[in-house]
Amino acid sequence: MDLIPNPQSPIPGEVITRFAPAPTGYLHLGHVLNAIYVWEAARTAGKDARVLLRIEDHDRARSRREFETALLEDLAWLGFAADGEVTRQSERSAIYEHALAILRSRGLTYACECSRTDIGAGRYPGTCREKKLPESAGLGIRVRLDPGVERFDDLRLGPQEQRPSEQCGDLLLRDRHGNWTYQFAVVVDDWLQSVNLVIRGEDLLDSTGRQMQLARLLGRTEPPAFLHHELLMKTPTQKLSKSDGDTGVRELRAHGWSADAVMDRATRLAGLSRDDVRSRTRMTRRP
Ligand SMILES: [Zn+2]
Repeated sequence: MDLIPNPQSPIPGEVITRFAPAPTGYLHLGHVLNAIYVWEAARTAGKDARVLLRIEDHDRARSRREFETALLEDLAWLGFAADGEVTRQSERSAIYEHALAILRSRGLTYACECSRTDIGAGRYPGTCREKKLPESAGLGIRVRLDPGVERFDDLRLGPQEQRPSEQCGDLLLRDRHGNWTYQFAVVVDDWLQSVNLVIRGEDLLDSTGRQMQLARLLGRTEPPAFLHHELLMKTPTQKLSKSDGDTGVRELRAHGWSADAVMDRATRLAGLSRDDVRSRTRMTRRP
């Protein structure tokens, strides 16, 4: 198998973006805001723009098929239709293996025996970099991220500068339980699916530099464009979370809300109107 980004290679100027929920719960208002942005950006970009739907079920322990079914059903109820087949990360293991082999053949990977408790929440200090542990079940696999600066122009937030090796250290690609990590799977998928516009909440802004660096190590020559949008807020300073209640699309539907009312609520909780979203996505039109 060759890892050539060709399944839906874009024609010049064509926008390919994606909606990529994890089936670890039901669709909530945060997803809804993201979907409004994604489909609005595609609509603004023109008739050739495409929205791919990817189920990010790389975490096998937390993903459930019934959540996926419900996510797809709620999405359809809201009126969002994707282009092409739904892809599932759980069905792409051979592809991730192959991508891993590319990095391994370049001497960029190493096995890591550290547990989450060993490392904590901060930067991975490179404990296992020089241990030369043989890859085996029960060990994670990391990729070396050498020091460097990643620069990109976020379509909403403007110029950004990140230093992944200082922020997060060597990235985990597969964890000790054999799960592909979010960071790795998303980079491989965006590359191979020719995604050239990534739209997501600004809680993922810090991930962007490391994903750009990893994509380049894999062989991606052009990074996608990025738009990081507002988050839903409970108060001006406090993020809304699922535990705050009334954020599930299922519950709102059950209480008789219309699709339009649900979408208005999602944008309003982000301090926006639907027109604001429209004007923010005008930037996504490609030359
Ligand atoms: Zn380690």
